[in-house]
Parts: sequence; structure tokens; C-alpha cells
Amino acid sequence: MENTFETLRELQDILSKKYAIERDILEIPKALETKQEILNRLKKTYVEKNQDFESTKEEIRHLNFEMTEAERLREESEKKMDVITTQREYEALDKEIRDAGEKEQRFRREIQKCERDLEEMKSSLEREEQMIKMQQDELTAENNKIKAETSDKEALLAQLQKKESKITPDMDDGILFKFQRIIRNKSGVGIVPVKSNICSGCHMVLPAQFVNDIRGGKEIQFCPYCSRILFWEAGGEPVSEAYEFDHEDVGGLADLVGGESDFD
Ligand SMILES: [Zn+2]
Repeated sequence: MENTFETLRELQDILSKKYAIERDILEIPKALETKQEILNRLKKTYVEKNQDFESTKEEIRHLNFEMTEAERLREESEKKMDVITTQREYEALDKEIRDAGEKEQRFRREIQKCERDLEEMKSSLEREEQMIKMQQDELTAENNKIKAETSDKEALLAQLQKKESKITPDMDDGILFKFQRIIRNKSGVGIVPVKSNICSGCHMVLPAQFVNDIRGGKEIQFCPYCSRILFWEAGGEPVSEAYEFDHEDVGGLADLVGGESDFD
């Protein structure tokens, strides 16, 4: 029996390390997710701002066309000035020239405003480009670091797996399954000693007869409260009468104290 316990402890050591590494590997991509999200948001804003930039450029082209057209009209009207004969013609033409001139000025001012906007947009886009690049570099570096870490962890996992498969073929499947489950759920501890009639895993008082069975060591016993495998530790305090329970009490004990279950 002592050999079995020794094997279980050895397996516990392997399994708890293995499960911790498996959990770590699962946690790793979460750290990257936040960085990736920031990058995606930056890129989205960049695309939107770039669209604004392009439409402002288009707007300037349009305004320039309009301004040239107004300029052309004004010049045409100015030429006509040489051939007019009446005061009325003069007044009408003079108005045309002034209107065209005003239009020209208005377009010019609009173009200047758009060009100032464009400059601001350009530097804002440049800043964002830099931020995107920085974030991208950070993400790449993090990714590489994680890849290296993951492959280290996977190598370690393979080693543990190898050790595990050396031990497990000799074990009872049912016990092995239960034991793996307990270690996964009980933060890596699946086999604990009984001390003074108390399970040192969950600190519940165990029935005296049950403790005697454990001490007898004929078969593997699981704690009725936390499901951990129990073993008698030589040098532990002897079974004391104070912890004796009537056999009738034993069945209902788990309900009364609401002990832990191994499937939480
Ligand atoms: Zn227990």
C-alpha cells in the first residue's frame, strides 16, 4: 500500500504541474486580446480619418474648378466692357463682374479653409500611423515572446506527459480517473494524510471506523467530504475516543456539514 501511495504522490506531483501549465497556456492569448483590440480600434479610426482626408481633397478640387469658372466668367464680362454702348448695359455687366468676383473670393476663402483642415488632418494621420506602428510592433514582440514561452511550456508538458504515461498503465482506471479529477479541482492536492481523525485536505472529522480502515491500508479510501485519497501517516496522533461517531451518524454527516464535493 505504501508503494501505491508513493506512486500516487509522484503522480500528483506530475499532474498538478501539468494542469498548472495547461491553464497557463490557455491564459496566454487573453493578454494579447486587449492589445489586438486597441490596434483594431486605432486602425478603424485611421481608415475613417483617411476617408475624411480624401473627401476634403476632393472638395478642394471641386472648389478650384468652381473658382476657375467664376474667374473665367469675370474675365469674359470684363472684355465685354469694351463694346457696351448704354448705361443700362454697363450697370448689368458691372453687376455680373462684381458677382463673379465675389464668387471667386468666396471659393478662394473656402479653398484656404479646406487646405488648413487638410494640413491638420495630415499631421493627425501621421501621428496615428506612428501609434499604429508602435502598437503593431508591441504586439509582434509580445507574440514572439509568447510563442517562445508557449513552446517552452509545451516541451515541459511533453516531459510531464512522458513521466505520467510511465506511471499510469499500472494503475486502476477508475481510481486514476477520480484522482486526476480531484487534482484538477482541488488545486493540485489529491492525496492527503489523516491526522487525529481529521482529513488534512478538508479538515473534516472522519468516522473512527473509517480511520481504522485507512490505517489498516487494505484498499484505497477517498475522503467522503472532499474526495481526496487518504493515507495513514505514521507518527500522526492515535485515534482518539473523542472523535468517535456512531455508525448511524456516518451516512448523514456530509449533508449536515455541507462538505466539499469533488465535482465543483
Ligand atoms: Zn477531506
